[in-house]
Amino acid sequence: MRWIIPRALAPLARALALVVLLAITLTPAWAQGGDGPNPGVHVAPPDGPYTVYLTFDDGPSSSVTPLVLDILAEYDVPGTFFLHGHRIADNEGLVRRMVEDGHAIGNHLWQQDGLTAGSGVSESQLRASWQRTEDEIARALGPELAAVYAQQPVYLIRQPGGSARPFPVPEGVVAITYNWHVSSGDSAPWNPGPGDPPTRPWNYVVGNVVLSWFEPFRYYSVYEYGDGAIILMHDVSPVLPQALPSIIEDLLENGASFGVLPRPGDNPGSMPVLISAPPEWYLYNDPFPGTPADAEADVADPAATTPSLVGTRPDMLP
Ligand SMILES: [Zn+2]
Repeated sequence: MRWIIPRALAPLARALALVVLLAITLTPAWAQGGDGPNPGVHVAPPDGPYTVYLTFDDGPSSSVTPLVLDILAEYDVPGTFFLHGHRIADNEGLVRRMVEDGHAIGNHLWQQDGLTAGSGVSESQLRASWQRTEDEIARALGPELAAVYAQQPVYLIRQPGGSARPFPVPEGVVAITYNWHVSSGDSAPWNPGPGDPPTRPWNYVVGNVVLSWFEPFRYYSVYEYGDGAIILMHDVSPVLPQALPSIIEDLLENGASFGVLPRPGDNPGSMPVLISAPPEWYLYNDPFPGTPADAEADVADPAATTPSLVGTRPDMLP
């Protein structure tokens, strides 16, 4: 049958059609939902072999971490988990599986609150939070797997919120403090505008942030950082299991290898990655500071510490 629109309603129908067309045209690709488009458009991957590092903060979580571990197993890709000590109780099996599956474990201190860089928490409180978390990791693993964990070449530390300088480890502890190059945005606050979905779309995490699928490219992507790029995700974020397969598949299709921290060449005591440093920074600064003093010197460089959104292109800053 044919739809016949009464002539009096025709202008209304035309206006409605225009509204629908405009809505489709103006809705950003990441917000169109469903399985999400993968336009396959992003900056070129690096020439030659390169290794990237998936990192997962704030877990373990009984709902999200098992899915993340399943996805990593399915693609046979390793990752590094920065654990909150207070989340380990009742999730010991997940911590054991991380070690059994060949992932690396890092220390994200006991909890998120009050321990972010610059929050005024004393160094002795930071050290106590680190030690309490190490004790909890060892308890969860048990002696056999704790011995496997002890084979990691150094302690891996990521402070909640990131660090401006290497973590003040206890005397005699050999550690590397890791920030990140690319923040996935999987747990940042989502403030939907008109027409936006109520929760963060999974392909925003992939498309706008990690891989820069959608133009205009707003953030520096993992491909622009290239070899050694560290990606920040959160295995407490419900959107992550939807986003992670696409991140891994895109990287595999574009020649990436996956590694666990520490990266080859990162030196004990250092903090080799600076938050907010754009890809060019690493061309002009030693990305692998040899000593804590080197790291301090790099941090003292005002050009390296200019506050900005993490990895955001200067021309896209508000
Ligand atoms: Zn965190």
